Amino acid sequence: MSLETSEEKDLDEEIISCPVCGRDAVRRERSVETWLGVIKIISITCQHCGYRHVDEILVEPREYGPEEIIIHVRSQKDFRKYLFKSRSAFIELPQFGIEIFPGPDARDEITTVEGVIERFIFRLETLCRDTEDPLRCQEIVDKLKKKIDEEDPDLLIIIRDPTRFSRLTSSPP
Ligand SMILES: [Zn+2]
Repeated sequence: MSLETSEEKDLDEEIISCPVCGRDAVRRERSVETWLGVIKIISITCQHCGYRHVDEILVEPREYGPEEIIIHVRSQKDFRKYLFKSRSAFIELPQFGIEIFPGPDARDEITTVEGVIERFIFRLETLCRDTEDPLRCQEIVDKLKKKIDEEDPDLLIIIRDPTRFSRLTSSPP
């Protein structure tokens, strides 16, 4: 889901060497004002090998959220709540005693509570292979997968964001 909603503020363009083929690529950077705040959009395009990368980074929020967002999922409706999650956010599931740190590929994104849990399950499954007790890890994965379909999931999620950029939001405009 793109964060971009309104007019351009400035545009910077430079030639860099393509991270894939090493030939000339164009790097564009611009800032846009959105309902979330000021977002920087960085894109790299290489005409030679077709490499294309876009990153959207919230640099100045319109309003700050709390350092900890505590979500108690008690219904399927709670799973569908929207949330802006910054690349710095940690996700903790206190009932399971686990916390996942933002990975190197973490991005600023608008997602739903369900989306957060699905991503959590995906990352946990990858981590399970390298853990000391893969069976117990897989057990947690299975329990979480079940919760997604339950009428009263009774699931506690804590989103910890030192930048305070993350926040619950009503549906994106
Ligand atoms: Zn290239």
